[in-house]
Amino acid sequence: MLALGGKAEVLHSNGHVFRSEHVTMAAPSVVRLTYFVTVPFRARASLSRKAVMVRDNFECQYCGRRADNVDHVIPKSRGGTHTWENVVAACRPCNSRKENRSFQDVGMRLRHPPKAPHESVWIVVAVDRVAPEWEQYLTLPRPKVAQPV
Ligand SMILES: [Zn+2]
Repeated sequence: MLALGGKAEVLHSNGHVFRSEHVTMAAPSVVRLTYFVTVPFRARASLSRKAVMVRDNFECQYCGRRADNVDHVIPKSRGGTHTWENVVAACRPCNSRKENRSFQDVGMRLRHPPKAPHESVWIVVAVDRVAPEWEQYLTLPRPKVAQPV
């Protein structure tokens, strides 16, 4: 186990205790690795609906309501690409209002220009649920991330 081997430190305990013949220790909920783990670039860069939702905090990037869809800022029919810079979380009403037009055409505004997500988005995508005590260690743009996709 990492924490016993001195490669990681327990920062938060989840209240459970591990016992073995020789050792009793708090079961870790947050562990700081004292060496780097590299996430392959390919995995980090893969664009998925879930990753877009996490990046945009499940908020429609046009109106701020809860998003349930992803939208291509420049529609694919107009040459828009399926890239981080052209995909945003959107709610259904905004999605259908925009259709195959640009958001400027229909008088909508984009709240944040989309870009490749922060590293910690990949942690959230990988684990599904973020325990509240993890949030201080994840430098997410906004704290509420523990919503189901
Ligand atoms: Zn909307």
